[in-house]
Amino acid sequence: MKKYILDLTIPQFRTAANSIIKQDYRLNQLIEWIYVKKAASFDEFTNLSKELRQQLDEKFILRSLKIIKKEKSLIDGTIRYAFQTEDNKCFFAVFLPAKDKNSVCISSQIGCPVMCEFCSSGKIKLARNLSRGEILEQILQIENDVKERISGVLFMGMGEPMLNFNNVSLALKSLLSKKEFAIGKRHITLSTVGIVPAIEKLADDNYGIRLALSLHAVEDKQRKILIPNNLGFSIENILKAGKYYLKKTNSRLTIEYILVNNINDSTADAHKLTRILRHNDLISPDVQVNIIPYNPTAGATFKTPPQETITKFKNILKVNGITTNIRQAKGADISAACGQLGY
Ligand code: SF4
Repeated sequence: MKKYILDLTIPQFRTAANSIIKQDYRLNQLIEWIYVKKAASFDEFTNLSKELRQQLDEKFILRSLKIIKKEKSLIDGTIRYAFQTEDNKCFFAVFLPAKDKNSVCISSQIGCPVMCEFCSSGKIKLARNLSRGEILEQILQIENDVKERISGVLFMGMGEPMLNFNNVSLALKSLLSKKEFAIGKRHITLSTVGIVPAIEKLADDNYGIRLALSLHAVEDKQRKILIPNNLGFSIENILKAGKYYLKKTNSRLTIEYILVNNINDSTADAHKLTRILRHNDLISPDVQVNIIPYNPTAGATFKTPPQETITKFKNILKVNGITTNIRQAKGADISAACGQLGY
């Protein structure tokens, strides 16, 4: 059976190809074609003999995903991609263009077991984890399609990356590797609902990437309304894990807070958020709060707060010394904004 190249780490690829690739320089040429030049077929490996290309084609698969739908925002150029897997499952990724840095928001699972009430992906039952290769191929395919360099990666698409820890870790190693994607650690952000042991493990692995904690609430009871399946981790323990991550990695931490009308947007909530961050020693230049005004999703009863409420919430945090940012929705006209990646 053919092996999917992107599922293999370089040592695994070396072993799998050892009957046809004998010299190190050949292996390096191949790695360059796959990860640096991002060739989409073996025919493009032009400095290799036709015979070798044929042998590679007999042994390996280079692409396993198909782009089945592509929608471009008329507002900001964001592109939402629907990918189909070899086993006929569908998931999404988003291209986020910017003057200084193009980024992609990628998925780590098909469906999501966390089922956040404000998120379309949460309405889709978990089908399975994405493999190392399927995680990485999203970036390769989008870069090929837009023909522009991608230098930022957000693990904020479909799925909870910490519940697919092994494959996400393998993908992170490839993204950071100088021989493969060579993306700077500060340009990779992983967002999690707060799987405490996995945050601690990621801190100990110390890749130095940025971590975003999807907090969204100031009390556990309130959080349960937004994230019914919070997997048993309290706000207090999630913030402690965030602090541990910061200390271990010297990186930055983002606290994500989806602001939902009349659920978590009161001035009392803003003051309580300040208090719990202070209590956990998380008011520092390395910690930023991202306020995300709720993006409407089909069938949800939640509402976006009025602009005045959003500004008031932000100002309370700012006055208390918290670096605060209101995240602008990207691709809202094509359902590509935060929480909108559903069928
Ligand atoms: S917000 Fe993230 S964790 Fe929550 S349901 Fe959506 S994809 Fe899953």
